[in-house]
Amino acid sequence: MTENSDLQSRLAHLPAVDELLHEAERRGLLPRFPRGLLLDELRSRLAVARERMVKENLGVAEVWRQTEVWVAVASALTEFMAPALKPVINATGVVIHTNLGRSPLPECAVAQIAAVARGYSNLEYDLNSGRRSLRYVNVEGLLCRLSGAEAAMVVNNNAGAVLLVLAALAAGREVVVSRGELVEIGGAFRIPEVVVQGGAILREVGATNRTHLRDYEAALNENTALLLKVHTSNYRLLGFTGQPTIQELVGLGRQHDIPVVEDLGSGNLIDLKAYGLPGEPTLAEVMKSGVDLATFSGDKLLGGPQAGIVVGRRKLVEKLKKHPLNRALRIDKMTLAGLEAVLKCYLEPATLREQVPTLRMLTDSPIQLKKKSQRLKRVVRRVCENDARLRLEVRASTSRAGGGALPMVDLPGFSLFCQLSGKNPLSLEKYLRARTLPVITRIVDDWLVFDPRTIDESEFPEVGRALQELLLLSGETVV
Ligand SMILES: *Cc1c(COP(=O)(O)O)cnc(C)c1O
Repeated sequence: MTENSDLQSRLAHLPAVDELLHEAERRGLLPRFPRGLLLDELRSRLAVARERMVKENLGVAEVWRQTEVWVAVASALTEFMAPALKPVINATGVVIHTNLGRSPLPECAVAQIAAVARGYSNLEYDLNSGRRSLRYVNVEGLLCRLSGAEAAMVVNNNAGAVLLVLAALAAGREVVVSRGELVEIGGAFRIPEVVVQGGAILREVGATNRTHLRDYEAALNENTALLLKVHTSNYRLLGFTGQPTIQELVGLGRQHDIPVVEDLGSGNLIDLKAYGLPGEPTLAEVMKSGVDLATFSGDKLLGGPQAGIVVGRRKLVEKLKKHPLNRALRIDKMTLAGLEAVLKCYLEPATLREQVPTLRMLTDSPIQLKKKSQRLKRVVRRVCENDARLRLEVRASTSRAGGGALPMVDLPGFSLFCQLSGKNPLSLEKYLRARTLPVITRIVDDWLVFDPRTIDESEFPEVGRALQELLLLSGETVV
C-alpha cells in the first residue's frame, strides 16, 4: 500500500458523526445537552483526532478512546452549560464593588423582580382607565416624596441619565463645568467626553483646584444651556481648593434663567452622619437648595438595582421623557420592580438599615464586626475540624464603600486573617476564586483576609468548606 492509501484507510476507521450521535444518545448525553452543542464538540474532537493521525502517524485506537472521549465530552458540555454569570462570595469588604455587581438587593426587591419577571405586568398600562401609561409612574411618586422634587424619571444607569440630560437640554449649546469637576468615573465615563456625546459644547471654567462664582458668571452668554455640577466621587482635591456652593450656583442660574444640574454620582437619601459616616447633603437637601435637576445611580449608596434616577423640575423632566434617546436608555421592567421595592424601604427609616444590605454593611459598627469575625472563625474551625495547619486570627482592619462613594473614608472594622502553613497566600486566593462558588478575598502581608462586612452570615459555612477543600488538597501524600 502507498503511504497515502494507508492513511486513507486509517482515517476511514474514525467513527462517523451520525454513529457518534447515536452513541451519545445511548450514553445519556442526548437530550441532556443541546444537540447543536454536542455536534460541534464531537466535530472538533474528530478534527483533532484526524490531525493527530496525519501528523503523528497514529492509528485510530491511539487517538479515539471511546470511554475517555465520552467523559471528556460530558465534562466540557457540563462546564459550558453551567451559568457563566453566577453568585460569588465577596470577602473583600468593598461594599459597592462595581466588578462584583455593586449592591446586593433586599429580599423584598428580589421577590418583586421575580413576580414581575414571571408573567405580564402593568408596566405601561393604567389599570384604572385601561389605557396606555408611562413606565415611570410606578416610581415617580415615590421619588418625589423622598426627594421633595416636582417630577422624576428613571433610565438604565446614571451615565445614561447624564447623557440624556445633556442631549435633551443642551444639544448644540454650551454647558459650563468647573475644571475641578472634569472627572473620569472609571471605565469610559469622562465628563468632557459625555458632554461631547450629548451634542453639547463644553465650556470649562476656573482652575483645577479653585473655581470662583465669577468664573461661571464670566462664561455665561446667550448660548449657555446649563450649569453642570459634578460630584467628584472617586477622588478628592485637598489643600488650597474651593468651589462655589450649590446655593451660589443656583442663585446665578436663577439670575440668568439658566438651569443648574447636579450629577450626584451616588446620591444618598438619608443622613449618613447619623451612622457615623461623613455627612454629604441628602437628596432632599440638594433639591431644597434649588437645583433644577439632580441625577444619581440606583445601585450605589441607594442600595438598589442598576438605574439612573433623575429628579427635579417638571418642565425639564418632561423634556427628558420626550427625547428620542430616552427610548434607547429606558429602564426594564425587572429593574423597575426592584427599584420600587427598594425605594419603599426608605419610607420607613426605622427598619431601613435592616432591609437594605448595602446600608447595613456600610454602617455595621466595629464591635459588631469583631463579633461577626469571631463567629466566622468558629464556623471555619468547626468545618475544618480544628485542623492545626490553619492559623486564624481576628484582627482590626478597614473596609471601603467602593463605587466611587465616600472615597476618602476608611470604614473601621475587623476581619478574619488566615494562613495555611507552608502555603503561599497567592495560590490560596487563586484557588478560592476558581471554585464553582468563588470566594473573592484580599491578601494583606502574608495573610488571606476575609472581611465579614460583605459576607452574609449564611455564607459562613461555605467559606469554611472552601478552606477545608484547601486543607485536603494540600495534605501530605499517604500512599
Ligand atoms: C458612578 C457615577 C456615574 C455613573 O453612574 P452609573 O450608574 O455607574 O452609570 C456618573 N457620575 C458620577 C459622579 C458617578 O459617581
